[in-house]
Amino acid sequence: MSDRRALEIRGLRKTYDSGVEALRGIDLEVEEGAFFGLLGPNGAGKSTTIGILTSLIRKTAGSVSVFGMDLDRDPLGVKRAIGVVPQEVNFNLFERPEQILVQQAGYYGVPARVARRRALESLEAMGLMDKKDQPSRGLSGGMKRRLMIARALVHQPRLLILDEPTAGVDIELRRTTWAMLEDINRSGVTIILTTHYLEEAETLCERIGIIDEGRLLLNRETQSLLAELAVETFVLDPVDALAEVPHLEGFETRRNSRGSIEVDLPRGQNLDRVFEQLADQGLRIRSMRNKANRLEELFVRLTESERAATDLTSQAV
Ligand code: ADP
Repeated sequence: MSDRRALEIRGLRKTYDSGVEALRGIDLEVEEGAFFGLLGPNGAGKSTTIGILTSLIRKTAGSVSVFGMDLDRDPLGVKRAIGVVPQEVNFNLFERPEQILVQQAGYYGVPARVARRRALESLEAMGLMDKKDQPSRGLSGGMKRRLMIARALVHQPRLLILDEPTAGVDIELRRTTWAMLEDINRSGVTIILTTHYLEEAETLCERIGIIDEGRLLLNRETQSLLAELAVETFVLDPVDALAEVPHLEGFETRRNSRGSIEVDLPRGQNLDRVFEQLADQGLRIRSMRNKANRLEELFVRLTESERAATDLTSQAV
């Protein structure tokens, strides 16, 4: 069955037995072939959402459909369509990579001979061929992560879901993983990942959904989101320590915790007027940079304004 939509979630709610309302009505669509990032602070409801998609958690209300298959009516079809890479390594460390992949394919009903061929292909693609017969406990952290991805793909799912795929890994490994995921997406697999790293979302995801306190605050194209951030922030390092935050006519200015000056500049405007005023005030600048992580700013702003809007949290603050 074909459907242009990889995922369609309507009115999804989850209240745990403890009474915690983890999801308070989520609507979300992800197009086939997309690379989608689900962002949100700790406790936002990301893992609960993934748990429901992968049948590990039972939803309280709402509907989920994956490539047109309804989770309630065709749980097996949904299960087959999805590959999951959990955050923590959860394969048996005493088993060997090839064995782990063949077994996984077996769970999905892939015949043994096909399973073996696919396992070897996946190991090759993930650069693990020479490790196929070694106990997997001997693999490096990066190799273990790649084995997790290979395992998630061995039954050839159309949707790959990754929960914080690069949490706690070094920059080099993060970039290798990104390149790998981009290749997988280019091969036609829809990817949904959760992440704490806004840079990861900005680099990989063509759309971003921001979730907080069980609600989807936003679901937009990454590029349009970035283009709409009307203000750029520049960080200026003064030669001498500042006694006070300089007042710059027409610009919002503040001092950050490292003693640098942060200036918000409307997009497209140049810095001449900033420097003129700094010079007039006798302030010398040693270096300047564009503040990275623009998404971070947006994210903080969004989640803060949402929190301010809910009685419950403003009481708690
Ligand atoms: P995230 O993955 O975005 O960090 P989670 O989906 O893990 O968020 O959690 C959402 C909310 O549900 C949090 O308040 C969390 O404490 C709560 N929660 C998660 N799992 C359980 C559970 N098994 N029982 C009770 N509450 C839970």
